[in-house]
Amino acid sequence: MTLIGKRLETQLHDKKPLYTDSEAKAEAERCLYCVDAPCIKACPTTIDIPTFIKKIASGNTRGAAKTIFDQNLLGHSCARVCPVEVLCAGDCVYNAWEREPIAIGRLQRFATETSTAPGQKPLYVAKKNASPKKVACVGAGPASLAFAGAMALEGHTAVVLEKRAVAGGLNTTGIAPYKLHAEDALHEVDWVRGFGVEIKTGMEVDADSAKKLLAEFDAVFLGVGLGADTKLGIPGEDGAGVVGATAWIEAMKLDATTPSTKDLRVLVVGGGNTAIDVARECAQLGAADVAMVYRRTEKDMSGYEHEMEGARVEGVRLVSNSIPVSVVRDPNGKVTALRVARGEQGKAVAGSEHDLPCDLIALAIGQSKLHELAKHFPGVELDAKGCIKADPATGQTGNAKVFAGGDAINGGKEVVNAVADGRNAARTLIARFTAKA
Ligand SMILES: Cc1cc2nc3c(=O)[nH]c(=O)nc-3n(C[C@H](O)[C@H](O)[C@H](O)COP(=O)(O)OP(=O)(O)OC[C@H]3O[C@@H](n4cnc5c(N)ncnc54)[C@H](O)[C@@H]3O)c2cc1C
Ligand code: SF4
Repeated sequence: MTLIGKRLETQLHDKKPLYTDSEAKAEAERCLYCVDAPCIKACPTTIDIPTFIKKIASGNTRGAAKTIFDQNLLGHSCARVCPVEVLCAGDCVYNAWEREPIAIGRLQRFATETSTAPGQKPLYVAKKNASPKKVACVGAGPASLAFAGAMALEGHTAVVLEKRAVAGGLNTTGIAPYKLHAEDALHEVDWVRGFGVEIKTGMEVDADSAKKLLAEFDAVFLGVGLGADTKLGIPGEDGAGVVGATAWIEAMKLDATTPSTKDLRVLVVGGGNTAIDVARECAQLGAADVAMVYRRTEKDMSGYEHEMEGARVEGVRLVSNSIPVSVVRDPNGKVTALRVARGEQGKAVAGSEHDLPCDLIALAIGQSKLHELAKHFPGVELDAKGCIKADPATGQTGNAKVFAGGDAINGGKEVVNAVADGRNAARTLIARFTAKA
């Protein structure tokens, strides 16, 4: 799919632009190339960070990219979207001396982006006709792409089925544009496609197609992510003026007809990272006022501190200890306020209701689980939270032919966790295929 029109996300600019050669070299030379590097242990895909940084310092940018991709085929998007502050850079030894940690994400972006730019020689060539094995993936998000890419490089046939018109999963539809725009996510999808992965969009896997996949393929990987935004279940919530956070972000990123939030008063309900993202996106689009409404105190919020700090700098307010009671609409149905009660320990205090005036309410209180899909694959079970049960080290589900990874098994973590799951499942299966050959 080609992205068309002046989509709202094009108004939001890259917060950490690509380093120039000399900026990258200068930053790389600050690294101490620690022997027992804590940054490696903090990375869910255990990229050899000091080695790739050393290669950048010595001018071997393609070698640096290879070190990254050997562990993480989606090293480009991870470089841009990973919360490095709480992962690799958060564990960099410089923090102990209260000095700025190495900008690992930006160095990773430099290596991966420059080495995969159009016109660059391929870094990998897939083994040709090496295997008669065929694998299918359900969903074309980071988990499936990491799985399918690794399988294709080993010469196995890898087919990805995606229900949406675009591939890339939340990298394309959900990530804040000031980290990654949709076209950059699609560039990465094309890079993986270049290994020989076949990606079919507009194909939703249901009971019938699940049966066919199990019959026609040697293995199936479920990388379906999460479902629709959760609702509050309060009066007045249904109708114009109240949007689900991920649905709104997807429209803002991909649909040129989405109205801007410029000059609107926006309330975002929730205290996680998606809530902070929506609030920052609305603020950057020129909203008149943006406030996050959260039922408990700030220290109870699951959103990252560094993201909340960024939101505050952009003018986002936090209305804590406030529990939504109803959506207030005028006689024409237009949203005018969110009625909230004061919260104590997350519970509403009787008689404390008051109105927070607004024009738009975004609900960022979670996403549903895609329970139905698992039922189409005999032997695949769900855990108590509704996630697909799979061994986190191998991706193996209760059906020997079926593997799973990403948000569908962990309930919603980061892109790098999804990539690690896809990669681990591929390594398990490659070893199995090789042993049987
Ligand atoms: C708003 C938002 C912002 C985020 N920001 C960040 C961030 O800055 N950094 C970060 O590291 N992480 C971020 N995350 C988390 C990250 O995006 C996810 O952890 C990651 O994308 C999970 O990858 P996945 O492949 O498991 O699932 P997804 O990316 O969700 O991909 C699943 C794909 O499966 C498809 N699918 C579902 N059912 C079917 C079916 N039956 N048939 C065919 N296809 C199907 C879906 O359409 C989707 O394309 C964010 C999440 C959200 C919601
Ligand atoms: S911990 Fe910091 S200084 Fe040490 S290798 Fe990692 S990035 Fe370099």
